[in-house]
Amino acid sequence: MVERVHLPIAGEPPAPRRRHPEWIRATLPTKPAFFELRAMVKELQLHTVCESASCPNIGECWTRRALTIMILGDICTRSCRFCDVTTGRPLPVDPDEPRRVAEMLARLDLEHTVITCVDRDDLADFGAAHWAETIQRVKAASPRMTLEILAGDFKGKTELVDIVLAADPDVFAHNLETVPRLSREVRVQASYPRSYKILEHARARGAVTKTGLMLGLGEELDEVRAVIRELAGLGVDILTLGQYLAPSKSHLPITRYVHPTEFAELEAFALEAGITHVVAGPLVRSSYHADGQAKLVRDLRAAKGLAPVSAPGA
Ligand code: SF4
Repeated sequence: MVERVHLPIAGEPPAPRRRHPEWIRATLPTKPAFFELRAMVKELQLHTVCESASCPNIGECWTRRALTIMILGDICTRSCRFCDVTTGRPLPVDPDEPRRVAEMLARLDLEHTVITCVDRDDLADFGAAHWAETIQRVKAASPRMTLEILAGDFKGKTELVDIVLAADPDVFAHNLETVPRLSREVRVQASYPRSYKILEHARARGAVTKTGLMLGLGEELDEVRAVIRELAGLGVDILTLGQYLAPSKSHLPITRYVHPTEFAELEAFALEAGITHVVAGPLVRSSYHADGQAKLVRDLRAAKGLAPVSAPGA
């Protein structure tokens, strides 16, 4: 089990470490760049999944200004049993949020970023219009940055996915999270077939697609390989595989720690199966090291005949 990541204030001594396998080593957030980024997030009244989900990589990622902004508030209408984001009744959607997201990302002048959201099953369009406006504003303010969005399942309504895709995110990501057998237990209000349908639809629309799985929730490796084969057959472009780390004792327990060599074997298997880009490892999350994938995303868009994104300095 892994404790929530404690975010220190400047000058505070680091919190004591818990014992994990030797291959799980999170970088503590101690560098000035981390505190500068956190101050900017606070100033613009934004939310990040890095903080809300207590991501263990926040020290590493934020030190190089890689963050994942979370839109549509910080209260989720769903109660996935792996996730540390607060479940409850969300506040009304903030119509100014897309402008502030765009301002933040323009200030950071990034090559690539990921934006995600809480699930908003309370909204008639599950947040699709807000997503579209956010994407449009971000792309207008940062035309040389590639933008990846990690969206929910829109309850399987593909016409809502089309609203989001029409805003032309450079990568459309939606996480399967786990194998079909465990999906209901882990994700509660979601389902594997519905998520698969969303990916299939985005793929059919010609988008660059990405998904992710967590390991250590009770899945068998053969089940993971079966999902990988299915994703390769679907033509999903990018896959992440990471270790599930329970945020607290009230979340699902970790059934096992997957050794780095197993991650390496699964990565090789997925590449062999035909997935273009695979990131696998104990600390991998959907957005982990995505900030280094701007060229990959440009190449994938070019291969699909999608409109190019100007490279920085071009
Ligand atoms: S891995 Fe993703 S969610 Fe975690 S700190 Fe990095 S950018 Fe944020």
